[in-house]
Amino acid sequence: MRLISFVDLKNEFNANLDNNLDHWLKCVKKFSFEEDHNIKKNFISTKYHSEISNDFEEADFDELLNYFKSPNVLPALIVIPDSRYIAKNLIELVEKIIEINSLNCKIQCINSNWNDPINDGLNRLTLNGLLNESEIRKRNSIIFKVNRGEVVTKSPIGYKIGSEGNLVIDESHQDVVRKIFSLYTGIEVDQFNQIRRKLGIRRISDYLNAEGIRTKNGNTWSPSSVDVVLKNRTYTGIYKRSGIIITNNHPVLISEDIFQKAQNIRASRNIFKSPRENRLIFKKGLIKCGICFRNMNFKNIFRIWENISGYSRKKNYRYYYCFSISCSGKNINNIRFEILFEEISKQIRKIVKGYKKSFNKKLVYWEFPKDDKFDEKKKILEKNFLNTLRDVSKGKLSVDNLRNYIERLNNMEKSFSKEQTINLESIYSELQNLDFKNEEKIFYFINNLTNLISIKNNSVRINIKKPIVFDS
Ligand SMILES: [Zn+2]
Repeated sequence: MRLISFVDLKNEFNANLDNNLDHWLKCVKKFSFEEDHNIKKNFISTKYHSEISNDFEEADFDELLNYFKSPNVLPALIVIPDSRYIAKNLIELVEKIIEINSLNCKIQCINSNWNDPINDGLNRLTLNGLLNESEIRKRNSIIFKVNRGEVVTKSPIGYKIGSEGNLVIDESHQDVVRKIFSLYTGIEVDQFNQIRRKLGIRRISDYLNAEGIRTKNGNTWSPSSVDVVLKNRTYTGIYKRSGIIITNNHPVLISEDIFQKAQNIRASRNIFKSPRENRLIFKKGLIKCGICFRNMNFKNIFRIWENISGYSRKKNYRYYYCFSISCSGKNINNIRFEILFEEISKQIRKIVKGYKKSFNKKLVYWEFPKDDKFDEKKKILEKNFLNTLRDVSKGKLSVDNLRNYIERLNNMEKSFSKEQTINLESIYSELQNLDFKNEEKIFYFINNLTNLISIKNNSVRINIKKPIVFDS
């Protein structure tokens, strides 16, 4: 095939190719010889125009595209050292790959463990820049060890590490894993078909504990430790770490079929988790433990009762808990969400009232970010982009599936306008009549108005941001 090499040395990372272009040329020639390609051009984009030899022609990425757009040039294989020589971040990389594909050209990394530029990019780039060198080295060493059949992580329950560092089945625990999948899917997994019923993760953990079965570390089972087993792909023989996936790496404990059934059930159950509930929490890091000063966490606790006539009732209690080791072991610091909310509003009202008095007839206001959910929305979009990108790197989807995300990410950045003014009166009136139909707005006020909320034995202390005061 026709081959074009390309390097962009204008990107600001420590490009050791800079003074090693001869070596790059040798790599291209070697690759081309071994794979039976025909080198047409070696393009380079550099700041140092005088230093490049006649073997190279200067062209930046746009000029590379233009080269292929001219009528008598045929598509070719474009080779680069690795993804950093073409893009500064993952988004730029995907944009460029889409453009290359639209010209019917292909692109490959030839100085990397990952030939596919998306795979390579996932191991070198982030959404906003480069992964740091130590992270890249770590991933390279994982590849190296995996290629030699070595296991680098701890083994999950059901497996142990064999004499050669590979995963082998742990005879003493393999039945627990099969039992969990059997109970969850209702499917007979080997001989484990005792009750012929599908159970949820909570019932499974209760069941295992009642049978005296313990986890690998000898602890009792919890719903989440059962779920950890149910979602672990390792049981199907797949090794997965840091985006690196290897099939048939070790003996299979659970067939792909049953594993997939379990994932379908998990997905269908997750739908019932109310997303609305999650939105109504304070922003991360705002609520601190007044004893150990760590972040407190939001927790939903469901209780189910049966009344006399046999109907069951479900009630949801919302709490803020301190889960730090020093506090949670003794379960000493927690507060009902409703009490916390009431207390915060009360204190803000009081402080605002004080401001009103002391800055009489002056304009008192705060500047809040205009779209409170901007970061959150952006994070969700970025997460979906990365998940889709991983599917593309596994060959499940084509790179064109990412077009839509790129467009939305770019638009989001453009349309983001920064701040709006909120005056004292509007905060006061909003918190005066706590109408929960408008709770999103109340959270917007509290999240932006307070620096810190600390909780100690049901007493709440808040610290609010200083307002801007203007003589009117
Ligand atoms: Zn604490």
